[in-house]
Amino acid sequence: MVLQRIFRAVVMGPPGSGKGTVSSRITTTFGLKHLSSGDLLRANIESKTELGLLMKSCIDHGQLVPDDVISRLILSDLRKMGNSSWLLDGFPRTVSQAEALDGVYSVDTVINLDVPFQTIKERLTSRWTHLPSGRVYNTDFNPPKVAGVDDVTGEPLVQRDDDTPETVTRRLKAYQTQTEPVLEYFRSKGILEVFSGTETNKIWPHVQTFLTRKLS
Ligand code: ATP
Ligand code: MG
Repeated sequence: MVLQRIFRAVVMGPPGSGKGTVSSRITTTFGLKHLSSGDLLRANIESKTELGLLMKSCIDHGQLVPDDVISRLILSDLRKMGNSSWLLDGFPRTVSQAEALDGVYSVDTVINLDVPFQTIKERLTSRWTHLPSGRVYNTDFNPPKVAGVDDVTGEPLVQRDDDTPETVTRRLKAYQTQTEPVLEYFRSKGILEVFSGTETNKIWPHVQTFLTRKLS
């Protein structure tokens, strides 16, 4: 699908709600650029920048990184994308981040993946990630073709340090206290669309239908 105008969207949802999977389907289907705050932070950690090391301790403890740091990183990457359509995944996660984004860009749509916490806990502990691309697999319902290996590159998959049960619980708490208010923020602007379910493959067709209608 070729977009007729600039389109700017945000994907939200609790940790492990399928943001990464839904985002890559959206960007492939509709030709938007994808920017994931988690992938951006993990790339900083991987390249052992000073900032990255600082961020690693926040992430490994299931805490959010400071608003000013992540807002600066994201807004600088968005600036580099110039006049293109994009999809933000994992940002904003606090009201302060939402206000920082709002000050520079007008967001067309916010897609909220509403997945029960119990489902998420089960899911994250069986999740395997290809760190360089952010591609995720799940040993239960979306396994790689060869166990432990990325389908596209053949490189090894890893379990993320922050996908342990205790850290997952802390991430869900952070989501409730800091990120749920962001949903209200976007709802009051009239741009929030909620998609509920327990399986990404069942949620996806609804997202696709919604965006097809929205973009045509
Ligand atoms: P998933 O990507 O599977 O939905 P998630 O949302 O918990 O799960 P990421 O988005 O990859 O995972 O983020 C991992 C961690 O990076 C978060 O737990 C948090 O510590 C940090 N992080 C990511 N985005 C932000 C943000 N916008 N503000 C603050 N911290 C962030
Ligand atoms: Mg993610």
